[in-house]
Amino acid sequence: MTRIPRTDERRLWDSLMEMARIGATPGGGVGRLALTDLDREARDLFVRWAEDAGCTVRIDRIGNIFARRSGGDESLPPVMTGSHLDTQPLGGRFDGIFGVLAGLEVVRTLNDAGIATRHPIEVVVWTDEEGARFRAGTAGSSAFTGLRSVDDMLALRDPDGKTLGAELARIGYAGNAPVGGMAVAAFFEAHIEQGPILEAEGTTIGAVQGAQGQRCFLVTVEGEEGHAGTMPMDRRRDALLGAARMVDALNAIAFRHRPMPVITVGSLRVRPDSPNTIPGAVTFTIDSRHPDDATLDRVGAEMRSTCEDIARDLDLALVMTETSHRASVSFDPDCVEAVRRAAARLGHTCRDIYSGAGHDACNMAHITPTGMIFVPCEKGISHNEKENARPEDLAAGADVLLHVLVERAGAGAASPGASTV
Ligand SMILES: [Zn+2]
Repeated sequence: MTRIPRTDERRLWDSLMEMARIGATPGGGVGRLALTDLDREARDLFVRWAEDAGCTVRIDRIGNIFARRSGGDESLPPVMTGSHLDTQPLGGRFDGIFGVLAGLEVVRTLNDAGIATRHPIEVVVWTDEEGARFRAGTAGSSAFTGLRSVDDMLALRDPDGKTLGAELARIGYAGNAPVGGMAVAAFFEAHIEQGPILEAEGTTIGAVQGAQGQRCFLVTVEGEEGHAGTMPMDRRRDALLGAARMVDALNAIAFRHRPMPVITVGSLRVRPDSPNTIPGAVTFTIDSRHPDDATLDRVGAEMRSTCEDIARDLDLALVMTETSHRASVSFDPDCVEAVRRAAARLGHTCRDIYSGAGHDACNMAHITPTGMIFVPCEKGISHNEKENARPEDLAAGADVLLHVLVERAGAGAASPGASTV
């Protein structure tokens, strides 16, 4: 068996910090929206690093970048890893970027050790994962996996009316390679947890079993506007009072289920939003998530009946529409086990975990055996300039990634200088 070296903690950290300079924000984070000039700079830097590491780079029509390290048998499908380089407007230095640069660090480490693999290894940068600019999210991997059409993704518009396709061309990343339609042997994505569990437990590696399902709703509560001074309390149809009771009741529903779903009312609009008018209508959103689809459906039904009861009590009209529904994702058991095994081999603490967020890996799970590796991030803070992670945890995640990739890609015709035992 090939002896697998450790990745270079310092090199990985330095690469992350160099990448973080592109779009650095005063608050210590990164603002690098998809397909802006800053995204181009980040892509250019990645491509330069990948080519320096001997990779062949190809870019597909949706702008996904694939950096390929040849395998001993080039007829075999690649084992892929990667994530995204775009960020939220006030994002952090690690969300997505870690997954890309951990993949690059794996390639660099294999090169240094002279280890060849049978399957090629490809490090991918997915286009527009965050959805902050074009409002879709995981655009590149959705197109690659056929979950959404390439043309639909290219036609997405940002708030200024610019299309994703035109912006891709403008920054020079509208490639020629076809989108998807190729065999992929397996996909692994390394990512910061974006939640507090690993850090709180002092666990280094999360073997991600899958991602939560998500159902989102838009709720409109209709009452009647009235004068705040003249309408007696017992004759009011106050839409905001109804909405407030609903927000509280929705929160309580989460606590009644174990394991606990997460339910969030994050946006609320009041009509007419005047200090001396009784609110006539309120619109608010509900975001509900749980790893088990059946539980999520039960929660959805309970949320609806609870809101209906409150509306009836207060003589309000209620319209509750589902705006999106994403089923939960289960990662491939062998890939999850490979992550656990690698962590154990490396002497890292490891626990099973579900992803609360969506990731490109969730799309890839539809077309190939897929796994994810989580590492802790400080206080679980993400999508925030304060996002932080420890160099040693990031290196541990990269080491696990190295092991699972080599295992899947198969140690092959070792090049001269390869160390084997
Ligand atoms: Zn991410």
